[in-house]
Amino acid sequence: MRSDPRDYQLVAPGTLKSVVSLLAEEPGKWLPIAGGTDVMVLYAAGHLPARNLVSIWNLPELRGIEVLPGEVRIGPGCTYTELREHEVISREFPLLARAASWTGGIANQNRGTLGGNIVNASPAADSLPALLVYDAELSLVSVRGERRVPYLGFHTGYKTTKLAADELVQVISLPRQFSGYVHHGRKVGARNAQAIAKVCIAALGRLAEGRVDDVRIALGSVAPVPLRLIETERALNGKIIDSSLLALARNTAASEIRPIDDIRSTARYRSWVASNLVEEFLLGLNTGANI
Ligand SMILES: Cc1cc2nc3c(=O)[nH]c(=O)nc-3n(C[C@H](O)[C@H](O)[C@H](O)COP(=O)(O)OP(=O)(O)OC[C@H]3O[C@@H](n4cnc5c(N)ncnc54)[C@H](O)[C@@H]3O)c2cc1C
Repeated sequence: MRSDPRDYQLVAPGTLKSVVSLLAEEPGKWLPIAGGTDVMVLYAAGHLPARNLVSIWNLPELRGIEVLPGEVRIGPGCTYTELREHEVISREFPLLARAASWTGGIANQNRGTLGGNIVNASPAADSLPALLVYDAELSLVSVRGERRVPYLGFHTGYKTTKLAADELVQVISLPRQFSGYVHHGRKVGARNAQAIAKVCIAALGRLAEGRVDDVRIALGSVAPVPLRLIETERALNGKIIDSSLLALARNTAASEIRPIDDIRSTARYRSWVASNLVEEFLLGLNTGANI
């Protein structure tokens, strides 16, 4: 450990109301800690700037998955294990269940939360492309009340978000409107477990009379934020999937992303793999094959 515990304080008020009151007292002073799988890595490395931590782990208001007729409401304190074992999530939002099963190892899946993945805001995070293609919305809470924002646009730049310093993510809502879609997800990394993605994709779509009717594609690890490929989607909708459309999709996707060289990969490799993943999804969509 490169940090000294005597330099830190951790409180656990135990209710949502008391946590948001604490955050409001001096916005930015207190850092929420949920599963701690990102926060404690910074702590262990001596790179955690926050000295005051407030635990939101086990706040009952932030746990649980509520299935309503029109949407599924996920508490941000849900762990990956809870997500991948949930029957409705697995059936209706398989890309999220799949991403949960890719994240770290089993210990990490028992402790890491969806809310932590969102607010930690890594462009390589596994669950975030799935939230983009499923049109997730976030309910944010503070002493000022609640506001609901689309998840698309929540990340404003590398590791920055629209979350105010006194706010918590309270709910992640997913509309139940994707039955009959082909769902496609893949993570390309150095290993199957305990590897951060070099590139990952979440995509879904459906055909109507042989043409692309509605298609949604998001990639991780190819830009400062998890990226929905809006231009590529526009170029595809209404078209028949043939070799010229595949070439167009590859080129448009490559022009939309902004990959970089880093310790895990190179921009060139990421660009090539991203195009391959988009093509693989479209070939599956044409035959109705989920991956
Ligand atoms: C060994 C290991 C392997 C990993 N592998 C992967 C992987 O394969 N894929 C991947 O995507 N990630 C991976 N991670 C990263 C991490 O597990 C995830 O990002 C996880 O989802 C973080 O959740 P947490 O609850 O532990 O967050 P914490 O560490 O508790 O918090 C992270 C950030 O989110 C904030 N936060 C948490 N909940 C809320 C909330 N409700 N409202 C407002 N702010 C909140 C905290 O203040 C903090 O800034 C790995 C981490 C480790 C240690």
